[in-house]
Amino acid sequence: MTRIAFLGLGNMGGPMAANLVKAGHEVVGFDPVPAALDHSRQNGVTVAPDPGSAVSGAEVVITMFPSGKHVIDAYSDGLLAAAAPGTLFIDSSTIDVEDARTARSLAVAAGHRGMDAPVSGGVGGATAGTLTFMVGADVADFAAAEPILSVMGGRIVHCGDSGAGQAAKICNNLILGVSMIAVSEAFVLGEKLGLSNQALFDVASTASGQCWALTTNCPVPGPVPASPANRDYQPGFAGALMAKDLGLALAALESTGTAAELAPLAASIYRRFADEGGAGLDFSAIIKTIRENSEGRAA
Ligand code: NAD
Repeated sequence: MTRIAFLGLGNMGGPMAANLVKAGHEVVGFDPVPAALDHSRQNGVTVAPDPGSAVSGAEVVITMFPSGKHVIDAYSDGLLAAAAPGTLFIDSSTIDVEDARTARSLAVAAGHRGMDAPVSGGVGGATAGTLTFMVGADVADFAAAEPILSVMGGRIVHCGDSGAGQAAKICNNLILGVSMIAVSEAFVLGEKLGLSNQALFDVASTASGQCWALTTNCPVPGPVPASPANRDYQPGFAGALMAKDLGLALAALESTGTAAELAPLAASIYRRFADEGGAGLDFSAIIKTIRENSEGRAA
């Protein structure tokens, strides 16, 4: 049994902390939102009155926050100072690569160990304990974290040193965001050409157009019954999160001087989609925007 402090008990952190409790760990949690605390208390998490009390005495501290600023502010504003020397800080939030490296440096400078371990798999994966963790850490820290991460995830991938987990997450979601737009544009074009959605799916899902956006998260209802399109695009993976992740990818493209053309376009497409009502819908609802924009445009 490990004593674990879990900070950020939201949509993802709540069920992740609950799985750690189920596996027999002692979990002390904190979140400024009372409803999140209540929910976690019902799941067996010991609720702390403030972040400092949560981390004091913990061997491992896991954070699951909205952004890099939240992580760096929390580390700097007392979390690192309140922890016992040598505490293992695992940040599972999706944040900028540079912020992840900064957070780890702050942890190390304060006498601790630190790593980035963002996830994919969404709330469903967090609840089922089947998340994929992408870890940026040195070998010894990865070995120490793996048994804990395995409780919450089905696949734990050591991607490299500090920041490499976030790099993998951002690159994966860049592929996902762009491919969903391509799949959606193809379905709308097929509709305009009189091709049934099922016929396009039957061909592309076993041909060279095959990809996760098509075969698992298919943006039209019918061919893949479990995809969000069959339930009015309830997420799934929300448009707001895709817009956020492509914003992070865009920042990384700029800072590295990567000559990408599709990624910036995809980032602006999802940003507009999220701002204009798609934030709470699955990102595959981008097909509705493409269909709407296509109305009355035939030559
Ligand atoms: P969320 O907004 O539901 O949860 C974040 C929680 O952090 C909130 O409850 C907030 O009150 C809490 N918080 C903020 N600052 C805090 C602090 N200083 N101390 C303690 N708690 C604090 O968000 P989420 O959907 O759970 O996502 C969390 C992270 O996981 C994000 O970085 C997101 O990009 C990433 N992520 C989310 C999903 C998903 O499907 N929701 C999938 C993969 C990755």
